Amino acid sequence: MSDIIQLLPDAVANQIAAGEVVQRPASVVKELVENALDAGATDITINIKNAGKTLIQIVDNGCGMSETDARMAFERHATSKIRKATDLFNIKTMGFRGEALASIAAIARVELKTKVYEAEMGTQININASKVEMQEAVLCDNGTQFLIKDLFYNIPARRKFLKKDTTEFKHIIDEVQRIAIVHTDIAFKLIHNNQEIYNLPKSNSQQRLKNIFGKNISKELVPVFSDSPLIKITGFIGKPEASKKRSGQQFFFVNARFMRHPYFFRTVMNAYKDILSAETYPSFFIKLEVDPDSIDINIHPTKTEIKFENEHALAQIIGATVKEAIGKFNFSSSMNFEGDDLPMGGAIPVSDEIQMPSIHVDPEYNPFKQKSTVNYAQKSYDKKQDNQTNEWMNLMQSFEQQEPEQQEILKRTSEISEDAKVMQLSLKYIVTPTERGLIVIHQRRAHHRILYEQYLKNFQEQKAPAQHLVFPINKQISEEYALMLKEVLEELSMLGFILEINGQDLSINALPIDVKESQAIETMDSIIQNFEQFNTNIEFERQKYVAKMLSFKASVGYRTLENKEMQQIARDLFLTTEPGYCPRGKRIFTMIGINEFENRLKI
Ligand code: ADP
Ligand code: MG
Repeated sequence: MSDIIQLLPDAVANQIAAGEVVQRPASVVKELVENALDAGATDITINIKNAGKTLIQIVDNGCGMSETDARMAFERHATSKIRKATDLFNIKTMGFRGEALASIAAIARVELKTKVYEAEMGTQININASKVEMQEAVLCDNGTQFLIKDLFYNIPARRKFLKKDTTEFKHIIDEVQRIAIVHTDIAFKLIHNNQEIYNLPKSNSQQRLKNIFGKNISKELVPVFSDSPLIKITGFIGKPEASKKRSGQQFFFVNARFMRHPYFFRTVMNAYKDILSAETYPSFFIKLEVDPDSIDINIHPTKTEIKFENEHALAQIIGATVKEAIGKFNFSSSMNFEGDDLPMGGAIPVSDEIQMPSIHVDPEYNPFKQKSTVNYAQKSYDKKQDNQTNEWMNLMQSFEQQEPEQQEILKRTSEISEDAKVMQLSLKYIVTPTERGLIVIHQRRAHHRILYEQYLKNFQEQKAPAQHLVFPINKQISEEYALMLKEVLEELSMLGFILEINGQDLSINALPIDVKESQAIETMDSIIQNFEQFNTNIEFERQKYVAKMLSFKASVGYRTLENKEMQQIARDLFLTTEPGYCPRGKRIFTMIGINEFENRLKI
């Protein structure tokens, strides 16, 4: 029998590899833009037709390629970014496998024009399905320009598999966002069917987010920052009240690379747990910087899943940093950082536009003279890190400038005395004067916050006070309901609901102290309903959930309050851990500063 094993021709091998690297037009955009970044470009234009199905054009002003390199670039495992196996552990560039161009060239018509700065002429190469059709010297701009036409034209099965244009273009937008959010010192343009989608000039992080997501986003965010030997964290997180019904604006980056990380995601969600309603998700843009040796970016071919050493410790730091930011800017976030609409009448200096930090200039550094893209890429990476640290220092400072005054206000408010002057407004608000203005407290939310923390404490100490009923409440319930009740019997008893269930007979023998008999069934219902809801949601601890529900039910509604009650609520509120927000994530109080009155009464 003759031998049957053969080596695959390169073109076929490349097509197979392309299956990994290029799933859709967005993958091409990602790979080519990352290459442009690695080439040290400061200006990248992405021009798309028909969601990338017919045309993807990427133009950069990076270092360009020599004639030989331009040809080599399309070979499989051709890369200028690593030379030996040990380099793998010190990767600072986005790409390093040398697979992207070979893969893309295997499944599309590719036209490359590129020129290094020192050369007079550039090189053009046309490749169709891995076959070089043409290579010649051309006049062109410095940098590199890729045209990718008719993606998957030679693999009809893959082409058919593509989704409709809106979906495919959404993927492209996602990829561009993931890159543009972190690479703020690079200008990006995204054009689709001749329409400009993004025009992002070089800017600071805040401005970049505004340019991508719209002006309003900066009102919804506060900065996060922490710097420890293990990890540096910078970025923005959403204010609780700005959280959205749908997840979507959640971004993690590690060493300037977008990543997914379900564990860290949960960590961030948990940091919001007490102040967010269960059905909403906060936005976040969190950038992690760790020692490149401590991560493995290699576990997934498209490289968005990343493995960390010390995952546990890192999660703790991330959680603490996010919590700290929420706490720190909790009160201040009742103010609008845009400068208008300030409850304090503009008394507090605010700055929205952060000055670009002074740039540390390296006199040796001349990108146009660098021969090796490796050096260039690494240098630009290090320089970027410096800039970002500066930027964040400035940013945190500008937010913190507001802090001393606010801390002072908070201190004063926490000293609301037993006989503080209080009055009620529209059966809904408690108004109390302080030296700096009026504090207006939403009575129900405040009471909800106070009770919630009490209940949680009771839970933890396992001593929810119950009132035993002389005459138990009896009720016929459905089988389904009985089943649901049984599932949460333990939590309910911890709360003070002592129940007995026999088949379809329910008897309530004791109630939590704050729940009236007439409210018993309704309260239990809503607890159970919400159990169901949150079971389909992110992992909120049951105890907290029950405490949240129960305290809501027990909190004062819109009714007349005695002076004593109002004083009590005002005082207790500022003894809680989160006086700013009720457990459902709504704001509890606001201040109207003296300045505000003065402004209004000027004439
Ligand atoms: P990798 O990025 O993993 O090295 P690619 O196949 O994406 O592999 O690219 C191969 C090589 O082509 C790169 O290492 C780089 O030297 C060169 N190259 C690709 N795109 C560009 C570009 N836009 N500017 C300059 N060089 C580029
Ligand atoms: Mg690459």
